[in-house]
Amino acid sequence: MSRTRTQIVIVGAGPAGLLLGQLLHREGIDAVILERRSHEYVLGRIRAGVLEQGTVDVLDLAGVSARLHKEALVHEGVGIGFQGRRHRIALKQLVGKSVTVYGQTEITRDLMEARAANGAASVYEAEDVTLHDWQGTSPRVTYRKGGVTHEIACDFVAGCDGYHGVCRASVPADKCKVFEREYPFGWLGVLADVPPPWKELVYANSARGFALASLRSPTRVRCYVQCPLDDRVEDWSDTRFWDEFRRRIGEDVAAGVVSAPSIEKSIAPLRSFVVEPLRFGRLFLAGDAAHIVPPTGAKGLNLAVSDVFYLYEALRDHYRERREAPLDEYSPRCLRRIWKAERFSWWMTRQLHLFPGDAFARRMQETELEYLFESPAAQASMAENYVGLPFESAAAGAQAHVA
Ligand SMILES: Cc1cc2nc3c(=O)[nH]c(=O)nc-3n(C[C@H](O)[C@H](O)[C@H](O)COP(=O)(O)OP(=O)(O)OC[C@H]3O[C@@H](n4cnc5c(N)ncnc54)[C@H](O)[C@@H]3O)c2cc1C
Repeated sequence: MSRTRTQIVIVGAGPAGLLLGQLLHREGIDAVILERRSHEYVLGRIRAGVLEQGTVDVLDLAGVSARLHKEALVHEGVGIGFQGRRHRIALKQLVGKSVTVYGQTEITRDLMEARAANGAASVYEAEDVTLHDWQGTSPRVTYRKGGVTHEIACDFVAGCDGYHGVCRASVPADKCKVFEREYPFGWLGVLADVPPPWKELVYANSARGFALASLRSPTRVRCYVQCPLDDRVEDWSDTRFWDEFRRRIGEDVAAGVVSAPSIEKSIAPLRSFVVEPLRFGRLFLAGDAAHIVPPTGAKGLNLAVSDVFYLYEALRDHYRERREAPLDEYSPRCLRRIWKAERFSWWMTRQLHLFPGDAFARRMQETELEYLFESPAAQASMAENYVGLPFESAAAGAQAHVA
């Protein structure tokens, strides 16, 4: 067995793990990233694309935003369609902030390139990652690579390994509390290389179900339709997808839709999930390892970034000042923001999807969306959440905790 030592072992090279590694590197804190998939597999995953201003600010801080500022699209509004009408929520006008469209794949690429340029250690295709003694003072992480077992001793473990990862699963059930809601439908998503005929995202609640017209760049669209959970991707030819999308998205948008061949097609279930707390001894969870939101509110990646920023600040202050308090505050500080994003994602999902057989829910949607279209106050509330609630400063968090 090979034995080494570092300050932080980060499990998972998704956006959370890579970003934490980059922020720590700039602070002079050593970290090793262990990822079970290959470099190419991680880079090939198609997921999020809508970034809050706070997320862009953290990418600036991490020094990985040069390409983003050249290529990303800034959106100052978002459309909501219902029963043949569409209302634009004028984000910038209402709350003075916008969202940035830049694919998670591009963020991952920028972070991987920065890590390679730094010469920082990442192990891809690390098998059987196992956590040891994270409840004591000398945690260790073991893994296998190329038939050899390796052990890394460390000060802390950052569990950035997503919903199906090993870190949360290592915590005994009686040490944490899980809150979960599953929704009775999924999202069928198609990625296609065609210029988007829409300038901003359009969310539509139609009598046939939800649809979302989104994009990743000036030449690439990402579109979704609500589908039954037991549907399979093979059930949906490209022609069937685009026909259904046109029926749901609203006539004027539908008129410009091109039935381009898909370059990726997948079905994702929708789930709300939070584990409390996010700290267990010397193990810290961040990102999808600790929480899942339905993608309707575009919050998953953004929440991963705010967790990572809070964890980076806590570790930075711990190493600079040898204090435990910032680490103690990590979990409550994250959870205050997580629950607000969970609430908003749940609200967006409830208002925009078809819940079959629930006539009361339909009337509530009609009323809620009518109120949203009529009330500048309701629009401002939606806009405030969509662009992202502000990050809590470490000092403010400490005060809130004490109070
Ligand atoms: C269809 C879809 C659309 C979305 N749209 C948006 C959006 O518009 N806006 C938004 O903000 N969010 C969106 N999200 C959510 C967003 O993609 C996730 O929240 C984000 O990927 C979380 O990052 P993460 O690093 O925490 O986890 P992940 O990206 O899941 O990364 C975890 C990593 O850990 C690795 N890993 C797992 N287990 C182990 C192990 N045992 N050992 C080592 N490594 C391991 C995994 O291989 C993976 O690379 C969307 C998600 C989906 C599915």
